[in-house]
Amino acid sequence: MKIILLGPPGAGKGTQAKLISEKYVIPHISTGDIFRKNISEKTPLGIEAKRYIDNGQLVPDEVTIGIVKDRLSMDDCENGFLLDGFPRTAMQADALDSFLNDNGQKINTALLIDVPKEFILERMTGRRVCPSCGASYHIKFNPPKVEMKCDICNNSLIQRKDDTESTVKERLDVYDKQTQPLIQYYKDQNNLSVVNGTGEINEVFGDICNILGAVK
Ligand code: ADP
Ligand code: ADP
Ligand code: ZN
Repeated sequence: MKIILLGPPGAGKGTQAKLISEKYVIPHISTGDIFRKNISEKTPLGIEAKRYIDNGQLVPDEVTIGIVKDRLSMDDCENGFLLDGFPRTAMQADALDSFLNDNGQKINTALLIDVPKEFILERMTGRRVCPSCGASYHIKFNPPKVEMKCDICNNSLIQRKDDTESTVKERLDVYDKQTQPLIQYYKDQNNLSVVNGTGEINEVFGDICNILGAVK
């Protein structure tokens, strides 16, 4: 199964991606996680990406596309993958199509997690993440078992620097202008599925499983 997850920041892409990648045994590829790992390791890529991420801007296409192509070329992607947070621009979507086409592949579906703006701010300002495994929690909607500790690896949780109210607003603007048009792009390819992302995490996951079960 080759899946793209679409949706505004805070829609629940990372949360659902973890559940989907476990169930379908496919790698979860999050460009945001890749950038954050590079930032924490202070690699040249991390140093460049940080300038954009901290301001709520997108990392330039040339950089991002190169990283995803490298990742998709790894052996574990042969039988499928789940892209979370990529593509985010028309240029990225075109580059992904060409790359897959050149390799005789195509995606099964682009799955939009549909969540209206009113939900987003509370989801993102209450988000806490594990810097080690990338797991996402919420102080109210999905608290960890032990306060501020990751259920999976017991690391201390942190609040992302770009999850403050002003940066979230900027990211939502960027989403509207640059990423939202991709919904039409995949609709035109007859490749879009939509799940209502406003319910509880397990409810949304159940709906996603039903959708993916029907996808060819
Ligand atoms: P994204 O990867 O799309 O930015 P996340 O998966 O990190 O989104 O989710 C954003 C925040 O909202 C996190 O704090 C997460 O725990 C919480 N969250 C995710 N799905 C739901 C849901 N269905 N209902 C309530 N909160 C959710
Ligand atoms: P969220 O789902 O909460 O928006 P992500 O973890 O997917 O957050 O991304 C965090 C940041 O990393 C984005 O705001 C952006 O700066 C950068 N980023 C992630 N994916 C991409 C991409 N495909 N193109 C450009 N920048 C990206
Ligand atoms: Zn963890």
